[in-house]
Amino acid sequence: MFSVARVIALLGNEYPSVPAQTDRRRPPLDELILTILSQNTSDVNSRQSFRRLWSRFGSWQAVAGAGAAAIEEAIKPGGLGRVKAERIKVVMKKISRERGELSLDFLAHLPQEGAGAWLRRLPGVGPKTAACVLLFSLGKPALPVDTHVYRVASRLGMLLPKVSAEKAHDILGGLVPAKDVYRFHVLLIEHGRHLCKAQRPQCSRCPLLIGCPYGALQIEKQREV
Ligand code: SF4
Repeated sequence: MFSVARVIALLGNEYPSVPAQTDRRRPPLDELILTILSQNTSDVNSRQSFRRLWSRFGSWQAVAGAGAAAIEEAIKPGGLGRVKAERIKVVMKKISRERGELSLDFLAHLPQEGAGAWLRRLPGVGPKTAACVLLFSLGKPALPVDTHVYRVASRLGMLLPKVSAEKAHDILGGLVPAKDVYRFHVLLIEHGRHLCKAQRPQCSRCPLLIGCPYGALQIEKQREV
């Protein structure tokens, strides 16, 4: 199995435009809402939903006070509008009740573990959503394991078959050094979108083929046909 450093080096060569650091630094509540909006849709759609939500209401207090139907209407480009609108309302209610204000800025002062645990206690917030807030907003090295990261890491043999999403966060979080978390995350997503697709991965063109058990099997199968 390739080391994390080797995976990063090879994918870094393959995708030279992938940045080393995030240029996203929204307040943590904004990042949380954006991440909820990104569930089961593209980045383009979730950003559009976020912009529409903000331009319609102008503050999180106004969103929290709005009816679910009005929120649903604002975020409809991203799909699952009703589910996401209700989730946003429930999350905001819980934050307001626990903190006395609609802000997650206090998380910046907690250690990563404590901040992640606090976020995961919010309704509908799992390890991936929590890690997105920690990594992109707060600059804490938590690794979000989305569908691309999970698939590529599994094929490379970094995750055992059918390991849960929760466990995958623990395993990969333990493998990737803090300084490499952001880069590993974005490079695996890029790879999952371009070559290591869910259907028909392009193994013969992949720079990781020499260290990839799944890729070796695919090439073997192609030879047998
Ligand atoms: S060799 Fe194939 S399965 Fe392995 S990482 Fe590359 S594209 Fe994915």
